[in-house]
Amino acid sequence: MLLETDYIIIGSGVAGLRASIELARTGARVTVLTKDKANESNSEYAQGGVAVVLSDDDNAELHEEDTLYAGAGLCDAEAVETLVVDGTKYIQELIEWGTEFDRESGRLVFTKEAAHSRRRILHAHGDSTGKEIVRALIARAGQEKTILLMPFANTESLIVENGRCVGVRFLDPILRAPREIFARAVILCTGGAGQLFLHTTNPPVATGDGMAMAYFAGAEMADMEFVQFHPTALNLDDAPRFLLSEAMRGEGGILRNAAGERFMSRYDEKLELAPRDIVSRSIVAEMRRTGTRAVYLDMTAHTEEFLKNRFPKIYETCKFYDLNIAEDLLPVSPASHYCMGGVRTDLHGRTTLAGLYAAGEVACTGVHGANRLASNSLLEGLVFGARAGAAAVADSLKFRVSNFKPTSETRNFKLETEPATAVRKRVKRAMWERVGILRDADSLRRALREFEQIERANLGTSSRNFVTLAKLVATAALWREESRGGHFRTDFPERDDKRWQVHSIQKTGAGISSSERMNFAPAEKV
Ligand SMILES: Cc1cc2nc3c(=O)[nH]c(=O)nc-3n(C[C@H](O)[C@H](O)[C@H](O)COP(=O)(O)OP(=O)(O)OC[C@H]3O[C@@H](n4cnc5c(N)ncnc54)[C@H](O)[C@@H]3O)c2cc1C
Repeated sequence: MLLETDYIIIGSGVAGLRASIELARTGARVTVLTKDKANESNSEYAQGGVAVVLSDDDNAELHEEDTLYAGAGLCDAEAVETLVVDGTKYIQELIEWGTEFDRESGRLVFTKEAAHSRRRILHAHGDSTGKEIVRALIARAGQEKTILLMPFANTESLIVENGRCVGVRFLDPILRAPREIFARAVILCTGGAGQLFLHTTNPPVATGDGMAMAYFAGAEMADMEFVQFHPTALNLDDAPRFLLSEAMRGEGGILRNAAGERFMSRYDEKLELAPRDIVSRSIVAEMRRTGTRAVYLDMTAHTEEFLKNRFPKIYETCKFYDLNIAEDLLPVSPASHYCMGGVRTDLHGRTTLAGLYAAGEVACTGVHGANRLASNSLLEGLVFGARAGAAAVADSLKFRVSNFKPTSETRNFKLETEPATAVRKRVKRAMWERVGILRDADSLRRALREFEQIERANLGTSSRNFVTLAKLVATAALWREESRGGHFRTDFPERDDKRWQVHSIQKTGAGISSSERMNFAPAEKV
């Protein structure tokens, strides 16, 4: 039977949930396909908080300045203005919908994080901000009768007809069979691709599927070389790289080497509060200098009571691993964390392919430039999720979903819920060792050769998506012969604005090119 709806959203993180609410408000039928449980996403694990201009001593210009500075010359200024100015409205709306941000004497509490010039980070239940926002959004979406949320519905590819995205191929969770669903428009909200790397703070769902699907469907990809590595992921044998939030250093946490020395003064005058990319590279340099596999985060200046209240989730997780954060030094090392690049979109989530929209971490509006400012991405999901929903409706009012027949490709596509283990392992190791925090032409070429070799096997769709995405990151990293933000080339260690203040653009069949602007003329409305 042919499945049909008005709008399809892929992913149920902050961006997908917010987009679904925007669409449902117009009375449209919305089908949200999501890979795992409804709340399994990067959004769910966000700890530190969400940046917003709401405190008395803050203003939009300051937040914009901080975002532009962190973005190292590559932010799209209009996207930044949209994020910051619209952001306040969407956070206020979230509060009206029941999100419980932390308060003292009834007033919202704002924290300061690295590279923010003001205290502007709202948090919830100490260090469970994402979980609380997702809870509130799922509850709000649940009030909309036209939203159908389908968990465990892994999507693998998009359906394109006559140059327009008209639907999605997915694994039906009940039938355990491939199916097609058609709609007026599809909004990708599939999040990032931290899982491309051996060590990551991201949950298993973050394999970047949406980026690969968009690329194969013919949409342009932008700035794929820019990956943010978080400096302080808990580094214990046989445990996932659990994030120890930036806010811990914001609260005075100190980084020490294996000999117990505070070492950041060797690398940056801002010490532990230097930008993430600098702290990550400093940790790698210090580990190499001392021949160790971790450095240590020291929170022992605080009382156990304070830390337990301020970082309850981190406190409990460390306790599970026999670490008391008020007494023990916490072994940490960097891990992949956030993709600045993604599917190229305008400020309304339109991709370069008609009928296809993208919002949140899967998208690249240029809002983060070469390096994301901490706590700007939950805000991004809210703002651009809502805008993509609104644009999808406005652009497709006259479009009718009719006369689509299941394609032969659907009947043939291989059933794979995730990339094959062997492919995943090889790609993740190569990405970590050769396309990671420190890159050079030789390591990148070797990684690309390995990916090309993997591609020659008869791969299922998920595996093909995974290795293709790795290639896109490595190709862009090899192309950009400078260092900027999250991209560091040891053979080109300087930033070179004369030649490289441009975005990388990749498209199937068209290789890699550059663009001075991220924004573009949208496809025609129908
Ligand atoms: C540990 C951690 C801490 C963080 N802390 C913060 C913070 O404090 N502040 C901040 O602003 N940001 C933080 N971030 C980043 C932030 O959480 C994410 O960038 C943001 O939540 C992304 O939202 P999203 O909706 O775009 O994607 P996600 O929240 O990742 O949602 C993606 C959705 O797509 C689904 N999906 C993926 N592939 C498929 C597929 N093939 N088919 C169907 N569904 C699919 C997933 O299951 C998921 O539901 C943190 C990230 C991590 C990992």
